Amino acid sequence: MTAKTLDGKTVAEAVKAVVAAAVPQLGRTPGLATVLVGDDSASHTYVRGKRRDAESVGIRSIHHELPATTSQDEVIALVDMLNADDEIDGILVQLPLPDGLHSESVVERIDPAKDVDGLHPVNLGRLLLGRPGLRPCTPNGVIRILEHYRIPIAGARVVVVGRSFLVGRPLALMLSEKGVDATVSIAHSRSGELAPLTTTADILVAAAGVPTLITAAHVRPGATVVDVGVNRTESGLVGDVDFDEVAEVAGAITPVPGGVGPMTRAMLLSNTIDAARARTGRL
Ligand code: NAP
Repeated sequence: MTAKTLDGKTVAEAVKAVVAAAVPQLGRTPGLATVLVGDDSASHTYVRGKRRDAESVGIRSIHHELPATTSQDEVIALVDMLNADDEIDGILVQLPLPDGLHSESVVERIDPAKDVDGLHPVNLGRLLLGRPGLRPCTPNGVIRILEHYRIPIAGARVVVVGRSFLVGRPLALMLSEKGVDATVSIAHSRSGELAPLTTTADILVAAAGVPTLITAAHVRPGATVVDVGVNRTESGLVGDVDFDEVAEVAGAITPVPGGVGPMTRAMLLSNTIDAARARTGRL
């Protein structure tokens, strides 16, 4: 292996240390509410991790668990209650919601000032306009890990594979913002052959949810490869990148697990502190 491993766990710990140091400065205990509907086991694991992370940095975790039979009105009523609760700075509704519930209306109901996932249309709109707001955690984490390892972003050619509202599109916007200054292309399932595009990238981000989509043939020698993918396979948790093969070609690469995943979790805490700071002035 020739590529440098970009260890997300180390960077996430650094972000968490900054958050933990910021908590006492607030003068009150910040609160993060998690809402989990149904019995999806992966969602339960994710939320457990997020709650543990919050408590570990001094953020109070308030958890609401609802059965899969919960109605849309009941979920909305809970969100309204959390919006009105001054002790709660961040609200995270774990997605996906069970069939029959409308995720978009639930997310839109969250007070944008408490939208620590950064997925409310107001916050995504602010991102589009280049105005301050809560940014989505995974794209934020990708940028933070690149910055930590001093991978040049300004002027870099970046290819993002995946155009979801959760990862690909907000990441492309964030990377091309004034002051970040990458030149970004987005690929998706209708892009055709990926290699002619992806081999132009100084930084290649894979966020498609397809195991081993990215092989050595997709990577320019020396490029940085960020693997956002999390795929559960018979051989365990894998990303979208064939790590062993690509690590022989790339200059730097994030592992799965231990790359973008811990960064996503850390950025949730960072957003919660940002939300608490912004709200503290108004309480
Ligand atoms: P998603 O909503 O399913 O979007 C996947 C995107 O990839 C779509 O834009 C799709 O194109 C594109 N795509 C699918 N197959 C492709 C192919 N063969 N070639 C090129 N593009 C292709 O998924 P997501 O929510 O963005 O998540 C993507 C991956 O990241 C998943 O594995 C997810 O588990 C993981 N993830 C990880 C974290 C983390 O913290 N590490 C956080 C969020 C998500 P179309 O638009 O044309 O369908």
